[in-house]
Amino acid sequence: MSVSVVYCIELERDVTIMEARNEFFAKPQDQRQKFTFLCNDPDCRQPDGSRTEMVGVNYTRFVADSESTEYKSPYFRLKPKQEHSECCRSVTRNEEENESDSDSIEKNKKRNNGNNSPKENLLIDYFILPDDEKIITQKAINTTSEGGNKIRNQDNINATTSSTPSSTRKNINQTSLLDTLVYSYIEAKNILSRDKFLARELTIKKHGRVKLNDYFLHILKYMGKKDAYGIAFGGCSIGKIYGNLDSKFGFTLFFYDQYDKRNISTYIDSSMLEEYRYKNTIAEILKQYNNSNYYLRAYFLNPTIEFNSEKNRYDILIQDLRFLSLIPIKKKS
Ligand SMILES: [Zn+2]
Repeated sequence: MSVSVVYCIELERDVTIMEARNEFFAKPQDQRQKFTFLCNDPDCRQPDGSRTEMVGVNYTRFVADSESTEYKSPYFRLKPKQEHSECCRSVTRNEEENESDSDSIEKNKKRNNGNNSPKENLLIDYFILPDDEKIITQKAINTTSEGGNKIRNQDNINATTSSTPSSTRKNINQTSLLDTLVYSYIEAKNILSRDKFLARELTIKKHGRVKLNDYFLHILKYMGKKDAYGIAFGGCSIGKIYGNLDSKFGFTLFFYDQYDKRNISTYIDSSMLEEYRYKNTIAEILKQYNNSNYYLRAYFLNPTIEFNSEKNRYDILIQDLRFLSLIPIKKKS
C-alpha cells in the first residue's frame, strides 16, 4: 500500500485501492478494463500540462500468477518518468518506503522527526459508517461529472490543516468502504509493533474514538459480549451457493467456530445481492474460494445475532452488503 488515494479518470473521483478493485470487478467480466489513475495532487503535471499518471498494482485479480499462490496485496505506485510537484505527498511516501538501507533509515528518522513511518501514515484513521455515507452511489457518480477536480476527502482535510506547519501536519485518511477499513486493519497488524497496534485509535463519525483493536472482535468475543458493537470477524467456509455466480445467486457462510456448541452462519439472499453495487466482486471472491487453496475471513459491521431455533444455530444478520467484507485467506500448507 504505497499511496492511499489517487484520482481515477473513469470513475471521476478519488479512490482507495480497494475501491478500485471493487469497481473493477463490479463490471461484467467481458466489460472489465483497467482504470487510468492520476496523482491526486492537481499540481502534479507533465511538461505538456497533462496530469501525472499513477499505477494501480494487483487490483485486477485476487490471486497471483499460477507459479505463485500468494495473495498479492493491491496498491498504488508511482509511474516511472512522470513528474510530480515538489510538495506531492505521493512522492515523499514512495521515496521513504523504498529506502531500506541504514543511511536512509537515519534520514527517515530525521525527516519524520521521530514520528510515524510512511506506511503508518497511510492507515485509516476515520471511518464513516456506510449508512451515513452519501457519495458512493451510482446516482452520485453520474451526476457529479461537470468537470473540475472532484477531489473530495483529501482536499477538505488539506484545507483544514493547511495553516499547520508541514512538520506537524497530520494527514487524516478516511473511508466509508468496509473493505478499505478491514485492509487497513490487517496492514496495521502487520506493520506496527504489538504495543503500537494495541494503542492505535480509530475515529468513527458520530460515534467518537475507539481503540482499533477493540473495534475488531473475533465472532466468539462479539457474541459473548453484552451490547457489542463494531466489526465481528472469523474464518468461514461456504455452506452453499444458490443459483449462478454469473447471474443471480445467494449463499450461506458457516464460521469454523461454534458458539455454545451450535453453528454460526449467515445467509445472504439474492435480493440483497441484486441491490449491491459490488455483487460481481463478491461473486469473484466466491469463485476464488472454490479454487480450494483459500478460505474466507468474513468481517461483519455491527451485525445482529439471532438464535434460529428451527435450525438450532445462530444467524448473523446485516442490513445490507456494505456491512460485510470477505477476504480470501491462503490456507497454511
Ligand atoms: Zn504527485
